[in-house]
Amino acid sequence: MEMLWFDMAWLPGGWARQVRIGMTGGRIAQIETGATPQSGDERHAIALPGLGNVHSHGFQRGMAGLSERRGRPDDDFWSWREVMYRFLDRLTPEDIAAISAQAYAEMLESGYTRVGEFHYLHNDPNGRRYADPAETAGAIVAAAGAAGIGLTLLPVFYAHGDFGGAPPSPGQRRFLSDIDGFARLVEASRAHLPADAALGIAPHSLRAVTPEELAAILPLAGGTGPIHIHAAEQRREVDACLAWSGARPVQWLLDQAQVDARWCLVHATHLDAREIAGLAASGAAAGLCPVTEANLGDGIFPGTAWRAAGGRFATGTDSNIAIDAAAELRALEYSQRLAHRRRALMADEASPSVGETLFAAALAGGAQALGVEAGLTRGAPADIVTLDAAHPALAGADAATMLDRWIFAGRPGIVDTVWRGGRRRVAGGRHVDGEAIALRYRATLEKLLT
Ligand SMILES: [Zn+2]
Repeated sequence: MEMLWFDMAWLPGGWARQVRIGMTGGRIAQIETGATPQSGDERHAIALPGLGNVHSHGFQRGMAGLSERRGRPDDDFWSWREVMYRFLDRLTPEDIAAISAQAYAEMLESGYTRVGEFHYLHNDPNGRRYADPAETAGAIVAAAGAAGIGLTLLPVFYAHGDFGGAPPSPGQRRFLSDIDGFARLVEASRAHLPADAALGIAPHSLRAVTPEELAAILPLAGGTGPIHIHAAEQRREVDACLAWSGARPVQWLLDQAQVDARWCLVHATHLDAREIAGLAASGAAAGLCPVTEANLGDGIFPGTAWRAAGGRFATGTDSNIAIDAAAELRALEYSQRLAHRRRALMADEASPSVGETLFAAALAGGAQALGVEAGLTRGAPADIVTLDAAHPALAGADAATMLDRWIFAGRPGIVDTVWRGGRRRVAGGRHVDGEAIALRYRATLEKLLT
């Protein structure tokens, strides 16, 4: 058994001192606290459990920074989406694998150890199925394998261009399935997955799926698999849903779809009080992507009301414009401060550290939404992240402020070593295969952009 020893580690009850962790078969086999290090133990200072990144479109990493120029006075999510459609038009499965591997390596370097890939780029550039319908899912699996990140694959069902079964646009031809084709796609995707991967499904949004299609595909989640859907990201989407059905999108889902803890509503930005109460009570997680939501001008999630209602949440890097686990949590808190003109909002008297409160919630919500266990606990995957105690951002830090330091004052390099499934994937802040992954990524982007 491989033994690690930490001066302090974040266990399910909070910080513990002098923690010895034994890893075998990719899982945590034993944990002792108050333990003296033994010869042969690898010693580190500060250990955290790896976080789950519940929402990623890996290929979008390759267009990061390409849509930050003002094109017209009403630039918004929808004009960004046009850029995204043009970027993905020519991507081959090899391109998708190369770009996603870079994104996944960066996720590991920032402290994420599992990714939920919301995978919708299924068809070839002409909109036809590949001979293997899960050809591009295979590319995602290959990318996750190259980077060594845990994978929860969420094949996306996408059939329409807008509410009410509107026909898709030409830019959406690589996403499209019918119900039978999607069932085959899910099965073919399963065949690509390694043993420690999880499989769910993702109806793209109420824009892309009719009620009949939603009802038909939900059984493909298999009873316990995660179900992810984009919901209420944009005001225009809320208005269009109201015009179509008389209900707001989240309310429509609560009324029609038996939303429960298997569900992750991605964004859920625009919620009214009734939706907040109903969605929180359902046990579903809100999949918040505050950095992308800020980048796209989506709006501000009602975080304080969500917390007050006991709502669960996790974070995701979505467009992968900037991949940083701490930055997502920081952006969530800062969005609340800007909206309410107060400080320390995503915490309370019982748990006053904002960093600890956000981290604990995102850890639990991430595991739930990705359909796996998480946390430094016996039997859980050995997904362990260390912080560099010698980093200037942690000078003089104690347990009470450690997570606040990382999340609010951290800088690149503060994450030091990352084990995923018991294998070291990041050392000294850099992915162990980072150079080879970046070389392939650079060659791919140069080919695509020149
Ligand atoms: Zn998304």
